[in-house]
Amino acid sequence: MRLSLRGNLYEPGSFGNTKSFFDILRERGLSFDYFDHGVFDSDLDVFKRAVRTEHEKDVNIVRLLDLDTASHRFGLGTKSALQVLKRTDNFVERIVSRWRERDPELAVLCFADHGMIPVKGSVDVARALMDAGLRPFEDFGMFLDSTMARFWGKEAILANVRKALEGLGYGKILSDKEREQFMIPYSDSWGQLIFLLQPGLVIRPSFFDTETQPKAMHGYDPATPGLETIAVLHWSKRLDGRSLSGAEMVDILPTMLDVLGIERPSYCQGTSLLMI
Ligand SMILES: [Zn+2]
Repeated sequence: MRLSLRGNLYEPGSFGNTKSFFDILRERGLSFDYFDHGVFDSDLDVFKRAVRTEHEKDVNIVRLLDLDTASHRFGLGTKSALQVLKRTDNFVERIVSRWRERDPELAVLCFADHGMIPVKGSVDVARALMDAGLRPFEDFGMFLDSTMARFWGKEAILANVRKALEGLGYGKILSDKEREQFMIPYSDSWGQLIFLLQPGLVIRPSFFDTETQPKAMHGYDPATPGLETIAVLHWSKRLDGRSLSGAEMVDILPTMLDVLGIERPSYCQGTSLLMI
């Protein structure tokens, strides 16, 4: 399976043989716009492009992420993070009311792809492995995310890495069962060994390091309280503004297809929120 996380998700075949939402739209001859951040953009730039567009597309996706950045940097519930939340809310309201001038029956599905929890401390995985006599980058490959360390190498060497990681006491190595549960493809590109931190810790240094320790983080075991996502569906045709508690990410695709009246493909998991 070819997966390109840095590529644009809306490009044809971005999930290999598995059709993405955008592949399905293309197949059905439906048009779409994707309003997203460039490298130096803020939500304001995305907002401006979205409200200014004159093209009437069947589906419009807007991705706002300043709230994520602000929560990492300032912490959950802080004045600065709440200001950004208010601004995000305002952007959404203005985009929706603008687009509803053209189509009063426009269905709006608003969701976040993760929650966040406060960060209590950091751990230095690279240092810990070196202290155990191992040589990352020389004897084996290592990639350090904020909450996950991934390893590649020869079986015998990885066995030593595994042993050292197990002794650290602040994370767990994902079992085959967990990899399956988290839907991590069996491909070397994802890491032969994946070490996931306990909730509330971050790896520092990591390849995503910021100057100061982040105040909040996501990317832990999804069962961690606080990492739940939110979804709100507003569609005058079928329902009037419903906050959907208990919604999961897998429910988003079937919901979007349901709203568009498209039959869901066989591989599609989850339940349409219109059914709840
Ligand atoms: Zn984030």
